[in-house]
Amino acid sequence: MRCALVCVLLAGGPASMAVNGASSASPDDGPAVESTDAVDLALTRLSSDRGAALAALEALANTSGPIQGKAIAAWLESLARGPERARVPELAKPQLDNPTLSAAQRIAVFGTYLEALAQVKPPPVSEDAIAALTTRLRDGTTDDEQVSYWHHFAMWQLRTQHFASAEESLTTAIALDAPRPASAQRAGLLRNLGVALAQQGKLDQALHAMLRADTLMQELGIPADAGLVANLAGLYVYLEDWQHAREYAQRAYDMAPEGSAGQLAALNMLGNATFGLNELQTAHDHFERSLRLAIQLGRPAISERNNLALTLLNLGQPREALTRFQDVVRLADASEDRVVSAVGRKNVAECWIALGDRAEADQWMHEALQIYAKEDVPPKRKELLQLMVENLAALGRHEEALQRLREYHALNEEMVNSETKARIASLESDYALKSKDIEIALQRAELQAQQADLERLRGQEQNEQLQRKMLLVALLGLAGIVLALWHSLRLKARANRDLMKMNCEIEAQRIRLQELNVAIRKQSEEDALTGLHNRRYLQALLASTELAERDNVEPTLAIVADLDHFKRINDTWGHQVGDEVLKHVAEQMRSVARAGDSLVRWGGEEFVWWCRGANAADGPLLCARLQAVLAENPFQIDGQQIAVSASIGFAPLPLWSGQGAASDIAMRLADHASYLAKRAGRNCWFGYTPRRAPDAAQDLRQLSVDALEREGWVECVAAPA
Ligand code: GH3
Ligand code: MG
Ligand code: MG
Repeated sequence: MRCALVCVLLAGGPASMAVNGASSASPDDGPAVESTDAVDLALTRLSSDRGAALAALEALANTSGPIQGKAIAAWLESLARGPERARVPELAKPQLDNPTLSAAQRIAVFGTYLEALAQVKPPPVSEDAIAALTTRLRDGTTDDEQVSYWHHFAMWQLRTQHFASAEESLTTAIALDAPRPASAQRAGLLRNLGVALAQQGKLDQALHAMLRADTLMQELGIPADAGLVANLAGLYVYLEDWQHAREYAQRAYDMAPEGSAGQLAALNMLGNATFGLNELQTAHDHFERSLRLAIQLGRPAISERNNLALTLLNLGQPREALTRFQDVVRLADASEDRVVSAVGRKNVAECWIALGDRAEADQWMHEALQIYAKEDVPPKRKELLQLMVENLAALGRHEEALQRLREYHALNEEMVNSETKARIASLESDYALKSKDIEIALQRAELQAQQADLERLRGQEQNEQLQRKMLLVALLGLAGIVLALWHSLRLKARANRDLMKMNCEIEAQRIRLQELNVAIRKQSEEDALTGLHNRRYLQALLASTELAERDNVEPTLAIVADLDHFKRINDTWGHQVGDEVLKHVAEQMRSVARAGDSLVRWGGEEFVWWCRGANAADGPLLCARLQAVLAENPFQIDGQQIAVSASIGFAPLPLWSGQGAASDIAMRLADHASYLAKRAGRNCWFGYTPRRAPDAAQDLRQLSVDALEREGWVECVAAPA
């Protein structure tokens, strides 16, 4: 039960922490302008009439004058907060060198640029490249502006999971900020530092940083920050301090808006805390609500399902748990999360054991083991092998049990070093821990003592200092009485440090593995000739759009381009030149695509341009642009030119709002449109735009394109003759 719970936390905790850290603590330093002007006016209209407000901002950004810099910064920031965010990296990058902007405005644009960039997965720009690009932004800036620079950078590092460098950036920012009066910004920095530390497994330091942020906000009279409270709750969950975890999670829940992602995270933590406190029925209720909310929010809800199922299993309801774990496996497989899929399979097996079907359980564990053969996670594999041995023995399959036992011992041998350390640590902590309450009191005393020192240095708030001192004296008195305990607590602290170091090492290994996986995956999804994505990538992309909630499909335009008479080029110039022409076409496509788009070599001389954020109305313009770039840039060889053109087709997704992505239909339509372009004489485009929505229950996959058009559900549009 304990092991399974840890897996729950790994799945849910760190991600939501990073999200909390990243979403609500972005540094707030918009361009400084004193009086209300046209930019402010446009900004006030943003929520009521977004289109007009954006147009006004864009116009101001393009008009030279005293507020141009401010307009540029405000325009980009507004785009980044809306569906146009994919355009932002491309638009913002040149502004980093725009002399019209003040240093503060450039740094604000830098923040917006990074915020938009962090949404592109995998990150298109490396950390070093960003540092190289932006170091000059800090030239001739005030400390204040530098703090802001580092804070923006750190937010990007947190969002892209560069936690060690985020820690460095935040430490730099805090040092620069230290001589100035304490502020909300400082509290934000401390709290984000807490996130960076927690993600590296430095839990005690993380707690310290976050409690400092919390205290600072109280001192400044600023209402508690929901993200911070949520992070503290998360930390206490990691530290398995369930009482505090519950207390903070409840606070986070009360503070989050109804039905928000914040409430979802808080519900998960409440579930974890009550599970830890062995209040299983309450945990079940929290997890059930969190699952409902996750689905409402359009999340895959894998960890929520797993949590709920785990609670059901512990409540003695294996049959219900089984169905839910099977869902977990299905979803994990769909999103190619191999480790969660293996954990899910083991959980399914445990349900079958509880239901008395050990042969079925063995099947599932066997599958899990096969997954671990590729994605090695030693502690999980060991747990699995142990269960397999027990199960096979109970089935009387002693030979196989023996074989698994050998694997178990071999693995154990590998792990023995770290295991021994962990065992010693746990023995020490058992010996040391007589009373959890006293430990907490002492930890608090230590924190208070540090706080008091700081206060004394500042020479401020003398009354409060006195109170603290008295409290400290009282607590130190307590410490004196329990001196022996104190000694053993230090032993525990050391054991904890060792444990934490181990955790760090394991985490570092996990990250390295993840990076390797990303690299391998990238290779397997890349077309070797052109460097564009390959067919496998597009297939995965199509599958993932199908997973989106019906109402929540990202608008995209699928454009299919089939090169005209390509065989002739091969026949005339040879296959090798043909290859060069294909590379050249890829280059041209890159030059018209935007930052968030995907370019795919779909077949030999067929390409797909996946335009994110575009819709059917953009089709004519985008197709014409592609046609033009090909026409204007023939392939050059030996002083001769090879003209290249394409027959192009497009279709948008979602086709009809509220009916899911239907990406296979959209691809079929775009392909058919390119075929129409061929038939019409090549070097032109056709497209399909949605019309009346069909009945949602209708299975459109069986219908031909002609039938879809006949029913009046889609309409064909063509390039002007
Ligand atoms: P259409 O205008 O009707 O599309 O004529 P086409 O010649 O482009 O179309 P067809 O489908 O008849 O032929 C496609 C050609 O593309 C044939 C094939 O040899 C060539 N091709 C496919 N993949 C590659 C490749 O990787 N390199 C080269 N050089 N040629 C390729
Ligand atoms: Mg073809
Ligand atoms: Mg062709």
